[in-house]
Amino acid sequence: MGIRRELFAGEVLYRQGEPSDCAWLVEQGAVELVAQQGRRRVSQGVLGAGELIGELGLLEGAPRSATATACEDTVLLAVDLAQFRERLEGGDPIVRTLVDSMLRRMRALAAYVPEDAVLPAEDVAMDDPGERSGVGRIRLESQLRHALESGELEVRYQPIHDLQAGAVRSFEALVRWQLPGRGPVSPAEFIQLAEETSLIVPVGEYVLDRVIQVLTALRDQGLEALPSIAVNLSAKQLVEPGMARQIVQRVQRAGLPQGALKLEVTESRMLDYAPVAAVMKHCRDHGIPFALDDFGTGYSNLTHLHKLDFEYVKVDQAFCRHMFDGPRAMAIVEAIVDMAHRIGAQVIMEGVETHDQLGRLDELGVRHAQGYLIGQAAPVEQVLSGEAMRWRERAAATA
Ligand code: C2E
Ligand code: CA
Ligand code: CA
Repeated sequence: MGIRRELFAGEVLYRQGEPSDCAWLVEQGAVELVAQQGRRRVSQGVLGAGELIGELGLLEGAPRSATATACEDTVLLAVDLAQFRERLEGGDPIVRTLVDSMLRRMRALAAYVPEDAVLPAEDVAMDDPGERSGVGRIRLESQLRHALESGELEVRYQPIHDLQAGAVRSFEALVRWQLPGRGPVSPAEFIQLAEETSLIVPVGEYVLDRVIQVLTALRDQGLEALPSIAVNLSAKQLVEPGMARQIVQRVQRAGLPQGALKLEVTESRMLDYAPVAAVMKHCRDHGIPFALDDFGTGYSNLTHLHKLDFEYVKVDQAFCRHMFDGPRAMAIVEAIVDMAHRIGAQVIMEGVETHDQLGRLDELGVRHAQGYLIGQAAPVEQVLSGEAMRWRERAAATA
């Protein structure tokens, strides 16, 4: 089953009686539903852009109750059962009970409808903003599935400057999604959506695969110092059964040296410390270091912090941005840096945009700086050519 389908006027999407293998979201155009009841053909209405078709049969596991035919050139996106099921099963138990009870009642009513009864056309108006935003998310989720299959996701690499070495020695992998007709979608938007479903798992695998490819290519260049690349993991990915073992296996299979791959996990999303700690230990034992991401933005549960085995603290960019606002802001930065050093972690300061900030961080003994001053997330070619590492030369040339 393709995720996206294009139909011309008169083309049939599915026929009455066929099994319901997915629902469809109309992206463009219109589809008419016609049910054959005895000898009568009954139109169940015309559905346009933003509307769902065949979702009830899918949820019920019943065959198609009508034949769906495109009225004009039409584009549809498939919505599979897992997409609904996951939401329902993970959702409010009361809502689940209500949906089940409505489906049961509809089945019971349908059994009483005479074969030749004329059904009213469906009320298909979608004026409710809540419903619209629900459809928007269903669409985005379907499009994300499509993006994964068709390679629309791009991984970019933001350079990280090592102040001690005086050079870029690592990168952070950041995923980008170029959505045709909508432009780039921020990972802040689609990663959260992916995290709400199990889609985060294939997205994470996709990013990890790309990163391992890049590290392998860099290693094969025989560089003096192989840069490391950090991959972001959501808390959900991290505790996915078998995830840690799989990451370790992939790195070993590629024959990458210890420390080449790093993992970043956001502190604020680590609700369940014990499994996270176990995963961190397994990875660390196999030469994959961890960074605690966005430090200082979550609820910074310091009582658990000492139990986690991480070697880097990534201080959220808000701290760097406000560092020079006043002595209190500076004191907080100093205290965070000091705390990280005392627990034996290296600091990576995020959001470094000016030379003044970099200079002050150097004075504080911060080891790593990441931000637009060093460079934005660069395409893979610039990493492979070394271009993404040469920010100093670029800055000197433009000064
Ligand atoms: P993050 O891990 O905190 O990534 C840093 C974000 O800050 C990136 O945004 C980056 O472009 C931006 N940034 C870097 N330097 C500067 C700077 O100097 N100034 C400013 N204003 N911003 C800067 P981006 O790429 O939009 O990523 C947003 C978030 O999406 C990331 O935050 C990360 O949590 C998540 N994300 C990105 N890629 C992945 C991924 O592959 N997997 C997972 N699970 N999450 C990802
Ligand atoms: Ca990160
Ligand atoms: Ca961060």
